[in-house]
Amino acid sequence: MMNMRIRFACPECDKTNVGEGTSATEFRCVHCGHEIQLQGKSASLDCCSACGNIELYRKKDFPQWLGMGLLALACLLFYLFAIQYRYAIAWSILLGSAAIDGIIYYIVGDVVVCYRCGCEHRGIPSRTFDPHSLATAEKYRQERLRREKLRAESAKG
Ligand SMILES: [Zn+2]
Ligand SMILES: [Zn+2]
Repeated sequence: MMNMRIRFACPECDKTNVGEGTSATEFRCVHCGHEIQLQGKSASLDCCSACGNIELYRKKDFPQWLGMGLLALACLLFYLFAIQYRYAIAWSILLGSAAIDGIIYYIVGDVVVCYRCGCEHRGIPSRTFDPHSLATAEKYRQERLRREKLRAESAKG
């Protein structure tokens, strides 16, 4: 039995909370005490645990800065060895870093992310979810902007 772990931003104070999505349905924000109704009830995921949205995407649970950092370091080392005409070492560093990159990509798991609130779900089967789509993300961005505008206008009175 897999245990789903979720990470989401509190709708009240916007701070990050982590929780077990499969057990508790009621969650209290550890920062502001705001009560959040979690949707997660089974090991399989059909909607976002934090907001109930059905559009979710999967991505590799691998920080992008780390991948970019590895690549930058490999390029720098390649350059340093290449200017000393040590091409064999230079190339093996470059190829080696590509291999490491591939291995990391292979062993890290997936994380399923909500388009609407950004809640991250880990430890669940993710095959049924599509990769990130720019069009869908844009739709939710527009929706968010509209909501913020409405809120600002109603605050003005
Ligand atoms: Zn909060
Ligand atoms: Zn959500």
